[in-house]
Amino acid sequence: MKAIAVRPQARQVGLVEVDEPALVGRHDVRVRILEVGVCGTDKEICRFEYGQPPAGVDYLVLGHEALGIVEDAGADVTRVRRGDLVAVMVRRPCAHAAFAPCRGARQDFFTTGEFTERGINQMHGFMTGIVVDHEQYLCPIPVDLADIAVLTEPLTIAEKGLDQVAAVQDRLPGSTQGHRAVVLGAGPVGLLGGDSVARARL
Ligand SMILES: [Zn+2]
Repeated sequence: MKAIAVRPQARQVGLVEVDEPALVGRHDVRVRILEVGVCGTDKEICRFEYGQPPAGVDYLVLGHEALGIVEDAGADVTRVRRGDLVAVMVRRPCAHAAFAPCRGARQDFFTTGEFTERGINQMHGFMTGIVVDHEQYLCPIPVDLADIAVLTEPLTIAEKGLDQVAAVQDRLPGSTQGHRAVVLGAGPVGLLGGDSVARARL
């Protein structure tokens, strides 16, 4: 199976041949990749400024914004079914027993820095035909959103920010949700975030 990968030490970006991953665990899901987004992080990785291959190999398969379709699932999978559209999550938690964000499935709120990320940091990404992942890292996508669902991962950046704003406001006595926001940044993620804020006001 072909994949698009970066070789940081050789300073190359190109096609590599990789083995098709197999379902191993009973909660594993096999996903055929349909679309992959490209963002500023990918540009940095392809300029060899960022990104880390998995241990023991000299290349990193690119791609961390993906839409796929479920082709097969392990015996104990309940979150998705064959034929479902899914966005595959990027970050994986650190192993520290006492680190609450990672133990509470909120690994995006890291402080240890010891996370791994598909397509970015020590895990291969989605610019290939098939990926296998644990069902907990799959986000089911309604069919009606198929045309824009590849934007799910970048949209989560703004949505997580809004979540935190709401949590801060909720704990202030007598406060109501705010109705004004300033969105800084006019890049694609900033514009997507602006749309998020506008919808949160409705
Ligand atoms: Zn990105």
